[in-house]
Amino acid sequence: MSEMDHSDKQENGQEYEDVCFICRRPESKAGKMFHLPNHICVCDDCMHKTMDAVSQYDYQGMLNNPEVLNMLNTQFDQKNKQKDEDEKENETQGFPKINFINLADLTGDGIPRKQKIRKKSGQEKEKASFDIRSIPAPHKIKARLDQYVIGQEYAKKVISVAVYNHYKRVFTGTMDEIEIEKSNILMIGPTGSGKTYLVKTLARLLDVPLAIADATSLTEAGYIGDDIESVVSKLLAAADNDVERAEQGIIFIDEIDKIAKKQNTTSRDVSGESVQQGMLKLLEGAEVEVPVGANSKNAMVPLATVNTRNILFICGGAFPDLEEIIRQRLRKQTSIGFTAELRDKWDKEKDILSRVTVEDIRNFGMIPEFIGRLPVICTLQGLNQDMLVRILKEPKNAILKQYQKLLELDEVKLDFTDGALEAIAKKAMQKDTGARALRSIIEEFMLDIMYEIPKDENIGRVTITREYIEGTGGPIIDIRSNSYSLGDMEKMNAIEETSYNS
Ligand code: ADP
Repeated sequence: MSEMDHSDKQENGQEYEDVCFICRRPESKAGKMFHLPNHICVCDDCMHKTMDAVSQYDYQGMLNNPEVLNMLNTQFDQKNKQKDEDEKENETQGFPKINFINLADLTGDGIPRKQKIRKKSGQEKEKASFDIRSIPAPHKIKARLDQYVIGQEYAKKVISVAVYNHYKRVFTGTMDEIEIEKSNILMIGPTGSGKTYLVKTLARLLDVPLAIADATSLTEAGYIGDDIESVVSKLLAAADNDVERAEQGIIFIDEIDKIAKKQNTTSRDVSGESVQQGMLKLLEGAEVEVPVGANSKNAMVPLATVNTRNILFICGGAFPDLEEIIRQRLRKQTSIGFTAELRDKWDKEKDILSRVTVEDIRNFGMIPEFIGRLPVICTLQGLNQDMLVRILKEPKNAILKQYQKLLELDEVKLDFTDGALEAIAKKAMQKDTGARALRSIIEEFMLDIMYEIPKDENIGRVTITREYIEGTGGPIIDIRSNSYSLGDMEKMNAIEETSYNS
């Protein structure tokens, strides 16, 4: 589409603004205009929308007919060849040169002509990151998880088996007689116990796309908040808009306990029960149309159809008060009949969460249909001090290892005494946010070290002590032994006197 020259405007001396013929916005608001014959102006937006609509129209299947397409293409090629020669003539003839253009060429961001993204063809399927034969057996999945996630043996075992079964099911497809049911997972565990971390590690090990969504932001469609289907669009983004890869991915919905049914409410529960209802079809498997590269559907965003049948849903939550619900049930059970036990027996039980039943979760406020679609339930324990110490030093990407690596770049060795680790874990326990507190505590103490050490090239080793963490002493600084000189000795004395107490 060509733009007419701007002589009109010049004649007007810029007094008047052009107004879009379709949306009626002036040029100052709508931006540059396309000038059509008869003094019609159309803004960039409206022109794109119109062209989109035109290019989508399938002319009764004509565009899918290869013969018609061929014919059109040859005509188009011929036209192009002639175009250069005719250009001058056309101008003099004064007839508008209206061509159909490819919008993707114009914008450069590849807007597809059809607002549907075609699934990948069969040939590309072979390039998938893994196939059924390479899915590691559950014990191997767990062994890999062990390298990263400390403790939580039960959860790791349950998840390894569930994931193994899930992907076996995905690649087997529907078997002739028996269709294996989907094994979505419900994860219950206190905050900072590693729920998100477990899922993240799992997705990384299996090389599948992962979307992490927060249930608190979800609301029933039409209300302020994210649509439930937005979780699928997040997954699609995580899979680089590859529908096929997304369909084998994992969606982790955190804070799932926040969409429990509201008790004693008379108003419509748009962020609680309704969200649970809305998620049912996603969990089970449905075709959903999701916007590509945007959060909301609108005319300008292309849509992709994603089938959630093979997407593994993992829902996680801390479920506060669930322990009390479990205790009450256990108390009721044990206080009746000959087997009656002391009523406070369950008060002392530490790992009460592991005794959770579907009934307890229903009493908490999750609707039965929702729980029914999360058949695998696993619980995580709250972390104790010993586990926190292990988390500090054992995982492959442990926080201590990260700092050691950083200082290694300055050729400084970093050590922590056992006492220091205990003191850090103790401080973290007081914060009651699980392993999440560890990083902030260490970061606080390491700030001075990371600031001071690179100042002096003679420092060869730093040892963090319990005293340093507790604020009663400083770290032990060792000077590089092979480079002593008189000047160095003086410096060393000066450094040893300095304590990093701040
Ligand atoms: P939540 O259970 O609240 O989802 P996260 O998974 O986000 O907790 O945990 C926060 C951080 O704590 C993680 O990034 C991870 O580094 C660490 N962490 C928590 N639990 C463990 C664990 N069992 N093993 C190793 N690291 C852990």
